[in-house]
Amino acid sequence: MAQAKENERMEKIVSLCKRRGFIFQSSEIYGGINGFWDYGPLGAELKRNVKDYWWRTMTQQREDVVGLDASIIMHPMVWKASGHLETFSDPMSTCRQCKKLVRSDQIWPIVIESSWARAIAELVPGGTVNTGQLVNWAKGKGQRIAPNLALVRNPEVTISWISERIQKNPAPFEAKELLQYVATEQFNQTGLVLPCPHCGGELTEPRPFNLMFKTHTGPVESEENVAYLRPETAQAIFVQFKSVVATARQKVPFGICQIGKAFRNEITPRNFIFRSREFEQMELEFFIPPDEIVAALAGDLAGVRGEGHPGEPQPNWGWQIWHKYWVEERLRFYESIGLPRTSLKEYWQKPDELAHYAKATVDILFDFPFGTEELEGVAARGNFDLSQHEKFSGESMDYFDEVAREAWKKFDESKKQELREDYREKKYDSLVRKGLELGEAKAQAEKESSDYFDKLAKGLYTPHVIEPSAGVDRLMLALIAQAFNEEEVTDEKGNKETRVVMKFHPRIAPIKVGVFPLLKNRPELVAKALEVKRLLQPHMSVFYDDTGAIGRRYRRQDEAGTPFGVTIDFDTLGENSALKDTVTLRDRDTMKQERVKIDDLVPLLISKVR
Ligand SMILES: [Zn+2]
Repeated sequence: MAQAKENERMEKIVSLCKRRGFIFQSSEIYGGINGFWDYGPLGAELKRNVKDYWWRTMTQQREDVVGLDASIIMHPMVWKASGHLETFSDPMSTCRQCKKLVRSDQIWPIVIESSWARAIAELVPGGTVNTGQLVNWAKGKGQRIAPNLALVRNPEVTISWISERIQKNPAPFEAKELLQYVATEQFNQTGLVLPCPHCGGELTEPRPFNLMFKTHTGPVESEENVAYLRPETAQAIFVQFKSVVATARQKVPFGICQIGKAFRNEITPRNFIFRSREFEQMELEFFIPPDEIVAALAGDLAGVRGEGHPGEPQPNWGWQIWHKYWVEERLRFYESIGLPRTSLKEYWQKPDELAHYAKATVDILFDFPFGTEELEGVAARGNFDLSQHEKFSGESMDYFDEVAREAWKKFDESKKQELREDYREKKYDSLVRKGLELGEAKAQAEKESSDYFDKLAKGLYTPHVIEPSAGVDRLMLALIAQAFNEEEVTDEKGNKETRVVMKFHPRIAPIKVGVFPLLKNRPELVAKALEVKRLLQPHMSVFYDDTGAIGRRYRRQDEAGTPFGVTIDFDTLGENSALKDTVTLRDRDTMKQERVKIDDLVPLLISKVR
C-alpha cells in the first residue's frame, strides 16, 4: 500500500511538472529520448535560482572560494589520470533475445515493476503455484507481454522444473525465486537465471560498460582524436589548480567551485530526472594542507569534537574537522532553500564502501517519493587527484607555502625527527594494508618520507581536498517533491476543493510575486496594477495576470509556487481614502491577506525573497 501511495505521489508530481511547465521530456514530438529532460519556463527559473544561490553562498559570500567555468570536452589524458577510462564502468548484461542492455545490479528493481512480472505475481497469490494456470497464461497473455520468457517459449520444460521444486520443497515460492524459475529453461545446466526485464528473455553474463560518452574532435573519426564528454565537473578544477593558484591570490586552505553540465551514459536512466544521462553538477574542491603540515604549523591538530557545526575555520583544523565542517555547511544550505533537516539523512560510508582514494565520504540523502536516495556526496579525497595529474602530465602540482617553510626552519632537530617518524610509520602501515611485503613497505615508506620532508623544507606540498559534490537535477526533484502539497480548502461558496500548492522557499521560487487587478474591464485598476508590476520588476520575477476570477488566479500561482500575490482593488484607487495607494498582499502558505502600502512593497518583498 505504502508503495502504491508513493508511486501515486510521484505520478502526480511528474504530471504537474509537465502541465505547469517545470519539466518536459526531451524531444517529445519525436517520441522522446530516454534519460534526457528539458526544463520549461517555471523549471528554468527554479533551476537558475538554485544555482545562483549556491554560487552566491559558495563563492561570492566567502573569502576563501573562487569560481571556475571550464570546458566540457577536455584532453582525453584527463580521464586516464582520473581513472574514469579504466574504472568508470557499470556491469552490464544484454538480452539474448530483444538485445536490450540492462545494468546488472539493477535488474531486480526493474523486473518487479514490469507488467509481466506483476501479472505472474497476481496468478500466484501467497507464492502458491497452480501450474495449470501458469501454462494457460503462458499460452495466452504471456505471448504478448513476455514473448521471450522461458515459460512462454517452452512451458512444458519450465513447468517440469517448477514441479520438481514443489515436490522437493512444498513451501510457497518467494517472489524472486518464482520469477527466476519462470525465466529458466536449462535449469540443470545454468541453475536459476535472471530474466530480461523487458521481454523475459535470457541475459548474458555481466560485462563492464564505460559510462563516458565518446566523441571525436576534428573531421576524422580515428582513435587519435577520441574525446569524451566530461562525466563530472571536478577534474577541470584539479587540472587548473596551478593556474588558479597563480592568479587568484588565494592561499591554502581555499576552494575552487564550479557549476556545469556532465554526462553519463546510464544504462537504465530511472526515476524521472533523478538519474539522467545529461545532468548538471555543483561541485567544490576545497584544498587543505596535509595534517602533518597543520600540526607542524599550529603546534596541535584539532579533530572533530562533538556533534553539529564546528564553527569558523581555525588554523589548526585537520582534514576530519574540515570534512565535518563541509557536511554541516551543505546541510545548512539545503535547510536555507526549504529542505528541512528532518527530510535529510547523513550516511557515513563504511570503510569497505569507500572509493580507494577516499578517506571518508558522507552521503547526504533525501526522502524522495521513490525512496531515500543520495542528493550530495561530501568526500575527503586526500591528495589523490592532484597526484594523479602530476604523474600523468609531468607537471608539478606542488603548492608553495611560505609560512610552512619558515615554520619548518624554526623547528629543532628532535621535533623534525619526531614528525618524520610519525609520517613514516603512517605511510608504512598504509602500504602494509595495501598488501606490500614488509621489507618493501619499509623501503618505500622511507623513500616517500624523505622526499616529502625534503620538499616541505622548501615549503612545497601537494594539498589534500574535501569535495562536496551536488547534483542540480536531483536537487530540483527534491525541491519539487518537498514543495508539492495537496490541501483541502473551502471556497467562498462553501464548496470543498483540493488546492495544489507548491510551497517553494521564496528564495528559490520561480516567480516571486503575482500582480492582479481585481477586474480586467476597469482601465483604472489595470493601469494601477501595471504600475505596481513595473515597480517590482527590476527587483524580482513578477507575473501579471488579469484573466478569470481572482480566486482562480490565486490557484494558478499556488501551483506555480509563487509565494506572494498583490491585488489592486478599488480601495487602492482611493474609494476608501484611508486605504488609498495600498494593496492586499496574499501569503501563499497561510492564504492570509494584509493591507500594505505600495511604497513599502519593494523593501518588504526583497526582505522575504533574498
Ligand atoms: Zn529482452
